[in-house]
Parts: sequence; C-alpha cells; structure tokens
Amino acid sequence: MRTILIVGAGQSGLQLALGLQSQGYEITLMSNRTADEIRGGRVMSTQCMFRTALGHERDLGLNFWEELAPRVEGLGISVAGPPTPQGHPRAVDWVGRLDGWAQSVDQRIKMAGWMEAFEQRGGQVVIHGAAVSDLDFLTRRYDLALVAAGKGELGSLFGRDAARSPYDTPRRSLAVAYVHGLGPRPEHPDVEAVRCNIVPGVGELFVMPALTLTGRADILFWECVPGGPADVFRGITDPSEHLERTLELMERFTPWEYARATKVELTDAGATLTGGYTPTVRDPVGRLPGGGLVLGVADVVVANDPITGQGSNSAAKCAAVYLESILEHGDRPFDEEWMRTTFDRYWQTARHVTKWTNTMLAPPREHLADLLRAGVTLPVVAHRIANGFDDPSGFEDFLYEPEKAAAFLEEARAEAERDGDAAEAEGDGDAAGAGREGAAGNAGPGGGVGEAGPDDDDDGDADGDRDDDDGVVAGKAAAVWSLG
Ligand SMILES: Cc1cc2nc3c(=O)[nH]c(=O)nc-3n(C[C@H](O)[C@H](O)[C@H](O)COP(=O)(O)OP(=O)(O)OC[C@H]3O[C@@H](n4cnc5c(N)ncnc54)[C@H](O)[C@@H]3O)c2cc1C
Repeated sequence: MRTILIVGAGQSGLQLALGLQSQGYEITLMSNRTADEIRGGRVMSTQCMFRTALGHERDLGLNFWEELAPRVEGLGISVAGPPTPQGHPRAVDWVGRLDGWAQSVDQRIKMAGWMEAFEQRGGQVVIHGAAVSDLDFLTRRYDLALVAAGKGELGSLFGRDAARSPYDTPRRSLAVAYVHGLGPRPEHPDVEAVRCNIVPGVGELFVMPALTLTGRADILFWECVPGGPADVFRGITDPSEHLERTLELMERFTPWEYARATKVELTDAGATLTGGYTPTVRDPVGRLPGGGLVLGVADVVVANDPITGQGSNSAAKCAAVYLESILEHGDRPFDEEWMRTTFDRYWQTARHVTKWTNTMLAPPREHLADLLRAGVTLPVVAHRIANGFDDPSGFEDFLYEPEKAAAFLEEARAEAERDGDAAEAEGDGDAAGAGREGAAGNAGPGGGVGEAGPDDDDDGDADGDRDDDDGVVAGKAAAVWSLG
C-alpha cells in the first residue's frame, strides 16, 4: 500500500486526503489544529465555491452540507459612481444568472467535519505544526509528501516564480465579518446572489450568503486598497469595532448595501478576520536540506488575491488534478519529473485564474469598464461575466484585449437586438442610464479601484493608493501581515 504524507488540513489537503483514502492509500494528515480548535476558532475565508469545484467535492461524496447551505443562484456587480452631495450613487447594477448554483460553507464547519470523517474512516491525523526539519525527516518514511499548508511559513520551501508573480506587495487589505440580520436585497429579493460592489479608489465590498456555525448568515467582506480610505482595519482586534468600521464604510461608500445592514450583528465571537497577502506563484517542488522533495498544493504554490473568490475553487480543482495524477501513476516513484508534470496539469486551470485575478488588481482599462457597463443592458454580457467565476478560461475570449471586448460587445448587441433584450433592459430606465454615464472612464472590475479620476472618490486621499512607487502601499516587507 502506498503511503502519503499531507501537511495541512484545509480545502486541498483534506479533499485530497479523503479522496486518496477512499482509494486505499495510507494517508497521514498533519494539521497544526484539531477539529475542535478549527471549529471554535476564527473564520478563515468567505469560501464561495462555484459549480465545477462543488462537483469535485460531490464526486467524492464530501458534499455533507449541500442541503443546508444557501444556494447562490446569481452573481451581481455594482459600481459606485462619482460622489455627489447626497453621497455615492450607484452607477452600475446588474446580476447574472449562474448556470449552476454556488455555495459558501464556513471552512470552520467544513474542515472540522472533513477531518473527523477522515479519522472515522481510519485515517491518521497528527496534530503538529510541521517545520522544515520535520519534513526533512518524514519524507524518507513516505512514498510522497505533499505540502498543503496554505499561505503559512512552509511556503518558503518553494521558490517564488517571478515571471508568474507580477506583484511584490499585498494589493488589498482584507476585512471579513459574518453577520445575521441582513435584510433582503430589494433588486432581486428571491434570488440569492454574491454581489461585488466596486468603489473606485476605495476597494470592493463583497456581500454573500453562507452557512456558518449558527446557521444561515451573510458575509460582509471589504477588499480595501492599501493606503486608501477603507484601509481602516489594521490593528483592530475587537470584533464589535470591526463590524462598526465595516458598516461605516458601507454607509459612506455603498449606501444601497448599508440600507440592508442596519440591524446586523456578528454571528459569533470568531466571526471577523483581517489580513492581507501578496499574490504569488511558486515553484511546485520544494527541496529539503537532506535532499528530499515535497510537492506544493493549492495556495502553497498558487496564491491569488480573493478579489475574484477563486482560492477554494482552485484548491478543490488542484486536489482533483493531483488525485487523478497520483492514481494514474500507480506504483512508480513520485520523482521530480512526475511532480512537475502534475503541477503543470493543475497550472492549465490555475493560469486562467491567476491571469484574471491579477488583471482585476491592476489599474483598469477602458474596455473593462465598457464590459461592466454593458452588463446593465445586455444580459448575455452579465451572464458571461458571472459564469466566468466558475470557469475563468472563457475570459480569454473577451476580457483582456480591447479588440476582443469590442467584438464581443458588438455581437452581444446584435444578439440582444434580435431577441429584443436590450430594448427591454434599457426600458428599465435608471439602472441602465446610470450605467452608461456613471462608470465611464474609471470603473473596472476590481481594478477600477486603482484608477479613479482625480479625486473621484472625494476622500481627501485620492490617488494615494494608485502608485506602488510612491511608498503609500503598505506591507512591502510582509507577504502575510496577519490572517487571524
Ligand atoms: C478573506 C478571504 C476570502 C476568501 N474568499 C474566497 C472565496 O469566496 N472563494 C474562494 O474560492 N476562495 C476564497 N478565499 C481563498 C481560500 O480561502 C483559500 O485559497 C483556500 O482555503 C486555500 O486552500 P488550501 O488548502 O490551499 O489552504 P488552506 O485552506 O489555507 O489550508 C491550509 C491548512 O494548513 C494548516 N497549516 C498551515 N501551516 C501548517 C503547518 N506548518 N503544519 C500543519 N498545518 C499547517 C492551516 O492551519 C490550514 O488548516 C478567500 C481567502 C481569504 C483570506
């Protein structure tokens, strides 16, 4: 029987451990926390997972919470327009239907539950924060050692791939709060959706339904431009103060979301998370001092900013690819060549996620703003963007190059004219009109935050965040300034 060591009990480590276990492999899982510690700890993510990733869990029978978690049927985008004396009006507002629903199950529930299932099925869990010296010793005792330790320190075993890592500082400061009591969404009260609210020059507010320890909840997740007016969470350890700041920012920059949030309260004592990290792609093979090799998994080797909500999805896809590759390899040795080939298979998916995510973090380009505005009047555009969250490879067709975007929009307009869609949507009046005016020139999906016109955000700090070279971007030295 082949023996495999997996370090890290997160989305990728546990999914892979359970998948291999079900095929008769002898797996040792090393975790720096027990299931109870995970369950009783802080939230770790917003973990919204789309159809393909959920399918990988379902294939392994790991969809334990599928009937309990809210089904996310749509993905919506709002863009705040330039401020007026009355505040920030909404310039773009649309929702695209997902072809398959998404779900967010609090990782505290999922990882604790999966770890217990792994143990109940006879798996060996070692509670220990692995150090390089441990791995050096342990790799000799296993046929294969995998490091699935997320963005933790073991990542330093894997060299940074500079060609695939355009940033060397965190691009957003992250602030998450899980709440109960959010009111229904007036735009579409019957459709559960993830909503990305883009506030140029400030950041993005994601709002999404989830299942947490205390039942159905909603997540309020600010992605704040470092040094910008929303970058106000550093050093905050008191959850109530965290929620207060979240709501203050919502009232100021996304009043349409704040109107739903006046009665919210935190779900539990561990319902908040702050932090930030530098998006990094790494060499997949780590070489230990004693000569042993380890293969990096998911975030260890490809860590993208959560602005596109892809990390858990990618972790599930990575675990699925690695599982297949291990099974196919049979009894042959897991040498360096096999490790690199296995990672390359995963990179075929991960490269699209990385390209899209890094594009969203870059200063925006006009054609991206055009696409976002077009979502208001052209349902096919909203649909394509929304479903790109499940499979970002389709963005190659229209998102990155102005010529392709223009051709795509032309085709979408022609299609809408044939179907009568555009006329109908334009008849909606406000949203469509605002979409055409408000976001022009400075809104991009996510990236829009980088490039607002001069003092568009009226924050007195305009442009402070726009240029890495001006030294305003915080956290140069730290890849992870805190995640807990
Ligand atoms: C604020 C935020 C919001 C996010 N939102 C989304 C989203 O909506 N959708 C989405 O798809 N992704 C999202 N992500 C990303 C997603 O959570 C991660 O990419 C995903 O969890 C990565 O899975 P993983 O298995 O690589 O690592 P992790 O889930 O991080 O698991 C790693 C595990 O290893 C353990 N560990 C670390 N070091 C050691 C050690 N030395 N020894 C033993 N164990 C160790 C850790 O405690 C952890 O349990 C978000 C991330 C953040 C921070």
